[in-house]
Amino acid sequence: MQMMIGDQFTESVSGERTRIENPADGTPAGEVPSGGAEDVRLAVEAAGEAFLRWSELPNSHRGITLFRSAELIRREADRLALILTTEQGKPLREAKDEVLGAAAVFEYYAGSASLITAGYSERLPRYGYGMVQRKPLGVCAAIIPWNMPVLIAAWKIGAALVTGNTLVLKPSIQAPMAVLAVGEAMQRSGLPPGVLNIVTGNGADAGDPLIRHDAVRKISFTGSIETGQAIAGATAGTMKRLTLELGGNDPMIICSDVDPVAAADAALALRLYNCGQICTSPKRMIVMDEIHDAFVSRLQQTIPEVVIGDGTNPASRIGPLNNETGRAGVEDAILRLEDEGARILRGKIPGGLSQKGFFCPPALATGCADDSRVLSEEIFGPVIPVIRAGDLDEAIDSANSTRFGLGASIWTQQINTAEQAAEALEAGIVWVNQHMKLPPEVPFGGVKGSGFGRENGLSFIDAYTEEKTILISR
Ligand code: NAD
Repeated sequence: MQMMIGDQFTESVSGERTRIENPADGTPAGEVPSGGAEDVRLAVEAAGEAFLRWSELPNSHRGITLFRSAELIRREADRLALILTTEQGKPLREAKDEVLGAAAVFEYYAGSASLITAGYSERLPRYGYGMVQRKPLGVCAAIIPWNMPVLIAAWKIGAALVTGNTLVLKPSIQAPMAVLAVGEAMQRSGLPPGVLNIVTGNGADAGDPLIRHDAVRKISFTGSIETGQAIAGATAGTMKRLTLELGGNDPMIICSDVDPVAAADAALALRLYNCGQICTSPKRMIVMDEIHDAFVSRLQQTIPEVVIGDGTNPASRIGPLNNETGRAGVEDAILRLEDEGARILRGKIPGGLSQKGFFCPPALATGCADDSRVLSEEIFGPVIPVIRAGDLDEAIDSANSTRFGLGASIWTQQINTAEQAAEALEAGIVWVNQHMKLPPEVPFGGVKGSGFGRENGLSFIDAYTEEKTILISR
């Protein structure tokens, strides 16, 4: 595939290309250009030129363009999902959910176009009257990870474009192709050239020059805490606006009034989604003493039954992890748990799967040490640590004990318990009797080490525009 810069689908200036591997079997999934600083410069220039016309259009016109993109993405969802599964590894039905989720995000932003308004003050004694205009920022940059590339790209594209900005997007080199295919579909559906540009490449060669480019007014980054910190450091003092959506180690608190079997099934389904590679995947199950053993026993029964396989096989409940570094990290975390004395139960990799696939069977862990890595760091894979809690206060203390603050959930039938936990949990989003749902209608983002700034909801208006006040004397 080629990069998307202005009205061109193009190779990189260097002519170099990067091979993308299918994580299920190591076969080539495709190739993309290896972009660098010169490609970034051309993309930012194209975005700057397009901004002059795009920012002048009525909001509703930009909304209609996003609606048309959504329509085409829905029509081509099967084709886009297959590209995503082949490069990322997730089961095809999850890939299709993601693609359709991206269409829903564009529809949300399209429908919100009429809400991008400012203010007017009719009478200001002594000053006359005042108007507030809402201005787009200009050229924005988006940098995204490989785990949910199409959905996360849609969050950033929808918000930046409907508010009148233009965008240079850099997907992860581990999963750039479905995002390129979405960009190409958007152009076919009528998005003017240069409004969205997609530069493929790795973080050092393409990401770093993009965040440092003088003409970039805002950076919206989703990825690891370490990269987020590097970007915050590199842009400090530049006055660029920055949104950082970083990692998480979400707690899921399960109270004793909940059916332990249903809760264990829900926990497993959530944790196995995308093979556990989701920032808001529940990564610590904190279960009340009274139902702890029944909850664990249900997982002991169901984990060995989890079918692992190629994401294109409809029978596969989980596909491979996306890359070997990630797989080795998850296996290392499990080995350490064993060394620390935790009890581990693993699922099985069936025979017949390619030895070159990055498969990782789910692991149930009980008896984890308080300072174990799975409880304090983000493990991006299907590891399910279960922790026992005596009461709600103890559960909340345990939930809040990490440097993260992305999502958290409380599972109970008691409204007072839910309310108490929702107040006390340190997270950007708290779910009650569900987890990981991120409809575009509500803001999403982290607290503490999980970053700052919000995407979606109506927060996008402030995030992608600035107000200009005009005072007129009478
Ligand atoms: P990563 O931080 O390694 O890479 C993310 C992106 O940043 C990639 O496109 C990469 O090329 C780019 N990058 C790397 N170094 C850069 C630099 N110096 N300058 C500019 N760009 C650079 O993350 P990943 O491994 O791709 O993704 C997994 C991480 O993303 C996990 O920690 C996960 O929790 C997080 N994540 C967060 C959210 C959220 O919304 N909070 C959503 C999904 C994933």
